Parts: sequence; C-alpha cells; structure tokens
Amino acid sequence: MDKLLTRFSTEGLVIREMNVGESDRLVTLFTRDYGILKAFAPGAKSIKSKKGAATSLLTYSNFTFVNKKGTLRIYEASPIAVFFGVGSDVKALSLAQYFCELAYCFAPSETPAFEMLRLILNSLHFLTKEKRNISLIKAITELRLAVLSGYSPNLVACENCGKFESDIMYFNLNDGSLCCDECKEKEGLIPLDKGLLSAMRHIVYSQFDKIYSFNLNDSAADRLSEITQNYITLQADQQFSTLDFFNSIKE
Ligand SMILES: [Zn+2]
Repeated sequence: MDKLLTRFSTEGLVIREMNVGESDRLVTLFTRDYGILKAFAPGAKSIKSKKGAATSLLTYSNFTFVNKKGTLRIYEASPIAVFFGVGSDVKALSLAQYFCELAYCFAPSETPAFEMLRLILNSLHFLTKEKRNISLIKAITELRLAVLSGYSPNLVACENCGKFESDIMYFNLNDGSLCCDECKEKEGLIPLDKGLLSAMRHIVYSQFDKIYSFNLNDSAADRLSEITQNYITLQADQQFSTLDFFNSIKE
C-alpha cells in the first residue's frame, strides 16, 4: 500500500463484508480509482454508525480512507446507491453476490479497472431497477467480464476456413474459438445457432453503452447463460460458491 496516500477518497462497491469483534467490520471494496481495496470500518456495526449503511454488502459509497502503515481505515463513508434492501428478490440478490465474487476474482488490486466496475454497477442496476431477464444479465456480465479480463473469445469467423456464418457454428469453451460445421473435427464443442452466436458477438464486440440493448427469448437466454457460465468458470479455473448457490435456487 506504499503508493496510496495517507488520506484519500474514492467511490466503491462493497463486495465482501466481515464483522470483526464487537463493532468493527472488515470490507473488501471494488473502487473506482484503485480497483480492489480492503479496509477496516471501525464502529460500523453499531446501530448509530453512519458508516454502517455505507459499508454494507452491495452498497456503492463514497469513502475517505486513512492509510496507516499499509492498513486502511475508513474515516468517512456515505452511500451513493443501495441496490438491495429488505424484501429484495432472493434470486437476484444471489446473482449480485456472484457478481461480487467474479469481481473479486478478476479485478486488479490497487489498480483502477473502470470499465469492469461500470459493468458490475450497470448489471446491478438492470437487475434491480429495470427487472430485465436474469439469465440475460448474467450472461452479459460473465462474457463481457471475460473480455475485460483478457479472456475474450474469438467469435469473428471459423478459425479454420474464415466462414462468417452457418446455420450452426461450434464454440470451443477451452480456448474461445469458433468453427463451422464443415471444419468441425473435435467432439465436445458447443453448437450455437444464429441467434446465440449473434448475441455473443454483440456482448463481446459492441461498444460498452450498447451491450445491454438486445433481447432473447427466455429459453435462449437460459442457454446463453449456461454457455457463458461454463466459459468464465473454465477461464478462471475455479468454482464459484456463489454461482452454485444461485443455481440451487428454484424460481
Ligand atoms: Zn470452417
């Protein structure tokens, strides 16, 4: 933490919280200017604490930190956006917690990752305020996050013959490559019809502010979400407990 000032401010999303002792909280934040930061919030658990709400999971807040020999303490905190409250949809909440685990896995520490933060915040917005199809929001977040983390699939054309489109194209989950029906040799590739392929191309190649502007029917959105989930899990080379929990909830 040497490069951080002794006192500084930034905005950030609380992606993990842990109570420490009687009244303190240790939080992990995905911040705008410094990527992932861990900080103590002294007194955050006490009912009268103004810091309490601002340091709760899935709250986006403005923070002022004091850096004492590499340990960050939250000096002041005030909430900017609260995405979940009492009575929130459990399925949406569990998906939001999975987004936090993805951010924790892929976002850099003490280095800004502005687009990735924007992606997570936008997805939380669409999930809670706009009530978009949950599988679609999940798929958009997983695939675009993979792109931003350096795991972009190559969906331009068949990697062997360069063919742009056929009724069914095949996606390789291991390396993110695409091949056409005629070039398909390997087993275990994922068949994509035209609708799924164009949705994936949209998520990977559109400008950021367009990535949410398309639609799929429910069964196609579910299928897409299964593919993007398997892709990002393979790229991360780990299982996400929050994802297992999300998938265990029946709607
Ligand atoms: Zn081909």
